Amino acid sequence: MRFLKKGSSGSDVMEIQALLKKIGYNPGAIDGVFGNATEQAVKMFQYNNGLVTDGIIGRDTYRVLESLLFGYDTYSVMPGDSVYNIARRYYTTVNKIITANSNIDVNNLMIGQRLIVPYGIDVVDTNINYTYEILEKDIEGLKKRYPFIETGITGKSVLGKNLYYIKLGNGPNEVFYNGAHHALEWITSPLLMKFAENFSKAYAENTSIKGYNVRDIWNKSSIYIMPMVNPDGVDLVIDGLQRNNPYYDRLILWNKGSKDFSKDWEANIRGVDLNHNYDASWNLSKQAEAAYGIYGPGPTRYSGPYPESEPETKAVADFTRNHNFRLAIAYHSQGEVIYWTYLNIVPPEAKQIAELFSKVSGYTLSQPTGIVSYAGYKDWFIEKYVRPGFTIEVGKGKNPLPISQFDKIYKDNIEIMLLAPVV
Ligand SMILES: [Zn+2]
Repeated sequence: MRFLKKGSSGSDVMEIQALLKKIGYNPGAIDGVFGNATEQAVKMFQYNNGLVTDGIIGRDTYRVLESLLFGYDTYSVMPGDSVYNIARRYYTTVNKIITANSNIDVNNLMIGQRLIVPYGIDVVDTNINYTYEILEKDIEGLKKRYPFIETGITGKSVLGKNLYYIKLGNGPNEVFYNGAHHALEWITSPLLMKFAENFSKAYAENTSIKGYNVRDIWNKSSIYIMPMVNPDGVDLVIDGLQRNNPYYDRLILWNKGSKDFSKDWEANIRGVDLNHNYDASWNLSKQAEAAYGIYGPGPTRYSGPYPESEPETKAVADFTRNHNFRLAIAYHSQGEVIYWTYLNIVPPEAKQIAELFSKVSGYTLSQPTGIVSYAGYKDWFIEKYVRPGFTIEVGKGKNPLPISQFDKIYKDNIEIMLLAPVV
């Protein structure tokens, strides 16, 4: 982590601002710019935590902030401790501690026993630019807090980042949601992560969401989530091109000489559009490139040298082949549209399910045409399995959608994500 101080800017500053706000400080606007208000908030935080009040986030201050970013602390039980006074000290609840420590005997804590103590705050922030680093922290934070969820890695990106998955539920009916195939469409990652958090929380507390009995879904189904298929692309769009990127010169070339990747870059770090890299009429996608002026790697619509040429698409396809998904949803932005067919293939029940999704989200049903109708994940899933597969385009506007759209997007899609495992 780099030192942050007045004048710093970036997604890491935004992350700290969101945290400070969440725990009761006033860092000003959550805008990624370290100004006076953020400095004052950092000083207050330092004062309250016995740190040097210099307003700079160096190693010592970051260490205290870090456990809050992960959402939990590891605590060693001391003589005289009870779960109740530990909970009080951490402003959290006894139930949160019990959930995070499955073998805990509340009436018989052992001195020196190490406990995971989740703070009384949520893990997943939905008001910040959602980078890979934040995703990684959130996955670890959720796993520690809800040890009954399964997390894992399905593969690596071109630059070696982990392609994470989360499994919610233990039932035989498997469904699959993925997000951020396209770099600019990273708002779909926090969408899936917030769902994972709320669904896990509801399972732990045995509550329902919008009338859906979460434990019931959990026992009947398994929801597999790959929240960020294209982490290299997402970080390029959010944090910009870093000098140590091994594709530095080529990326600028592929981006027609521009170093600004924040407005047009949908591809992975090799300039392949991952949603044109699946083995479903891939040749047609390839042939259509010239009509769009595409002759090689670039920001969008380059299908790659052959289907599944990219480690990211290969990982998603392998993950799919290794499971028995009854239904799959690929989340994209934008348009508030649901695509549910592929060429003339209409899987049984697909229409009925699509209409249900449309009804609960307010999104329009549509059928793709032209270059976008080939070689996408949904196309491949429908062709290979003849089961319901959907591309859902969330939000409205120009990509990347501002994170301020998050609440509406979540509200529109929550019922789709609850329905998919039970339809
Ligand atoms: Zn997309």
